[in-house]
Amino acid sequence: MTTTQFSSEERNRYKAKAYAAANANSPLASITIPRRDPGEHDVQIEILFCGICHSDLHTVRNEWSAIPTVYPCVPGHEIIGRVNKVGSAVTKFKPGDIAAVGCLVDSDGSCPECQAGFEQYCHNMTLTYNSPDVHLGGVTYGGYSDSIVVKDHFVLRVPSNLDLAGAAPLLCAGITTYSPMRHWGVTKGKKVGVVGLGGLGHMAVKIAHALGAHVVVFTTALNKKEDALRLGADEVVISRNTDQMRKHEGSFDFILDAVSAEHDINSYLRLLCRDGNMTLVGAPDKPHAVAAFSLILKRRSLSGSNIGGIAETQEMLDFCGKNNITAEVEVIPIQKVNEAYDRLSKADVKYRFSVDMASLKSQ
Ligand code: NAP
Ligand code: ZN
Repeated sequence: MTTTQFSSEERNRYKAKAYAAANANSPLASITIPRRDPGEHDVQIEILFCGICHSDLHTVRNEWSAIPTVYPCVPGHEIIGRVNKVGSAVTKFKPGDIAAVGCLVDSDGSCPECQAGFEQYCHNMTLTYNSPDVHLGGVTYGGYSDSIVVKDHFVLRVPSNLDLAGAAPLLCAGITTYSPMRHWGVTKGKKVGVVGLGGLGHMAVKIAHALGAHVVVFTTALNKKEDALRLGADEVVISRNTDQMRKHEGSFDFILDAVSAEHDINSYLRLLCRDGNMTLVGAPDKPHAVAAFSLILKRRSLSGSNIGGIAETQEMLDFCGKNNITAEVEVIPIQKVNEAYDRLSKADVKYRFSVDMASLKSQ
């Protein structure tokens, strides 16, 4: 990896290649961004693969009113790469190691959430992109880039048996589905629903299956049925078919909703058993309508979940290593990212795009 320094007035930073959106309507395009020179606790990573999450698309198009996007925006939080350089205090990694970075690059480390290993609920967490950058000013820039510099605590180890392009999506889609399933006790003997067979949904199916649960996929797409079964589902329900839905009333212990767009959640809440839980990880901007009786009648609960903490992300990666789980990926060069976004917005990907960052070298 070669790095170009800025002029002497702008010391402590170097130039990295990246892809960014200039505003909510413009396609992503090549850009040069500053990265900090690695400090004593930092790991500098040459990025090899970066998955494309629907959150990248929501952010680039400024679809979340609660988290306005600062432009230029360099998305990407499913990062796998090779360590290029480490700071003097780093013991966990050395140059040449394969390493990974997910949605978080910092947190205050001192609040009760951080102390409990829940960095993802720290009030002062720094997201991998579109968060204030305390080192360089402006906002953080994500993984659609040739390199990134991250504090060692937020850098993860990747099991050596996993394919790197397919492992990248574990850093968001994997942990976001693993964390709530562990929290709500998904295990052998439980009936688990997964709503939406996209990037997150297909990881949820693989993980729930590996945890031993009976897995039912709810999809709007007739043509995903065979895939769902191959990925580990025991049953597939076409969610627009009310007869098929009715058959499952009152029977689920847990349902994970990974849908990126507006939809009726009451039709799923009704499928939960007494004390069953439905967790939302899908994040459409528009509020859901919840009928009180969908919850009251069987003491059901509805909750949400945000990615996962660092220790749990490492646990998930190790679990995936042990069970040989990676995402089903379509590997693309960065030059095809805008086409990929158009297809992702139509749920036309099986089941995650993974960008081969070597393609950025020719830019
Ligand atoms: P994705 O690959 O686009 O998958 C979303 C799936 O939702 C689609 O494949 C489709 O499944 C279903 N869907 C799409 N439009 C629909 C509609 N109008 N009605 C019903 N179903 C629809 O997206 P993703 O990357 O998995 O992300 C899913 C959501 O999770 C996004 O909102 C993302 O921002 C959010 N997310 C949250 C967290 C968190 O920490 N909570 C982390 C990452 C992502 P079928 O074709 O099977 O119906
Ligand atoms: Zn994501």
